[in-house]
Amino acid sequence: MTFVRFLGGLKTIGGNIVEISQGNSRIITDFGLTQQSSQADVKTLLAKHDLPAVPELFLPQINKEEYVHQAIFISHLHLDHTAALEYLKKNIPVYMSRASYELYQQLVKSGLATNLKLDFQVFDPEVPVKIGNLTVTGFASDHDIVGISSLLISDGKHNFAHSGDIRLFGDHYDEVEKWTKKFNSLHLDLFLLEGTSFSFPDDKAGQLEQLQPEVNREVECGQRFALALKSLTAVPVVNLYPRNIERLVRFQKLALANQRPIVWEPAFARLLKHYLPAETIFTQTAGITGTTVVTWKQINAAPQEYAVQNSFTNLKQLVKLNKFAYLHADGGPLGDYDPDYLQLKAFLVGQNATFQRIGTSGHASKRELVKVAEMVRAQKTVIWHSFEPQLAEAALEANGLVTFLPELNHKYLFK
Ligand SMILES: [Zn+2]
Ligand SMILES: [Zn+2]
Repeated sequence: MTFVRFLGGLKTIGGNIVEISQGNSRIITDFGLTQQSSQADVKTLLAKHDLPAVPELFLPQINKEEYVHQAIFISHLHLDHTAALEYLKKNIPVYMSRASYELYQQLVKSGLATNLKLDFQVFDPEVPVKIGNLTVTGFASDHDIVGISSLLISDGKHNFAHSGDIRLFGDHYDEVEKWTKKFNSLHLDLFLLEGTSFSFPDDKAGQLEQLQPEVNREVECGQRFALALKSLTAVPVVNLYPRNIERLVRFQKLALANQRPIVWEPAFARLLKHYLPAETIFTQTAGITGTTVVTWKQINAAPQEYAVQNSFTNLKQLVKLNKFAYLHADGGPLGDYDPDYLQLKAFLVGQNATFQRIGTSGHASKRELVKVAEMVRAQKTVIWHSFEPQLAEAALEANGLVTFLPELNHKYLFK
């Protein structure tokens, strides 16, 4: 008998956690929080359902040895999928893809992530990992972060899968096509599909946009950046998310090709040097092996020869530039719901800087989500990681798919 228990993320974007258990074996996939909490008291966080209802993993005084074999599997390194790891007290293995672990180590080295003392383990794509009675297989996928995996969990009789966060038509559509075909062939008992794009009640679920498979949105994003590099007389300042390594690499290469190299913050320069060891990397301060320093004075003297990368935490540094144009490429803050975003906009007005959004989402559109569900065609599709999962449910059912909206912390039995 296998049980499936949803521990979070049923009506929120992120924090989606599921537990699959059989006898003495248990898998938990993803371990995020919907928001970074300043409240460090575990008991309060558990009571508020901010942490998943597995107190035995957070409170060392609870000595419940129900599971001989157990592990946490992480689909990708976004905080809404990992932030609860910071509270983990029980010494159980935490698995992630090899590429995710490489990213994690580099983020720690660059000072961009906390060094958690956990039992990290890696998996390779399509290589099953046995945890007692259960088997987990990761599949490479497409999202706006390296290492993203879709996860298949099997008890030998039932198959459950977690899509991870997903988009179609980024750089890795072929990977998505591959795992959807595999999942389809298994006739999954449950397919847990992220539903970020179905999150706003005024959207009409019936009105789905057209698919645009011919467009690679990451390439388009790069094209917008290249156009800015060619046309701007002011210094282009770009705000990027460090965990989106592929975009950092793309922008670095585009900037070099357009003879307007990016001058990176030291932490980003260190990170990029790991992924592009042979490339010339320009940075703002000395001390990083293999990088070349460009000062603010040099940039002001030749504004058409450089671009600058800036993170919100270092926003005030931009007063050193005589004239700049701000290009938002999905580094934080991301939107109006974040008070920092308003602060950013106000700062730019004060500096007479133009503002342009050039980024692209890591999430599939509504039409694309329906397409993924159709490609997999599980016995039941669960939509989570969404503010309005019932909108997705309606769209999926209208397309002949069977859906299921589970209840939080309820144990569903699969005989
Ligand atoms: Zn997410
Ligand atoms: Zn994500």
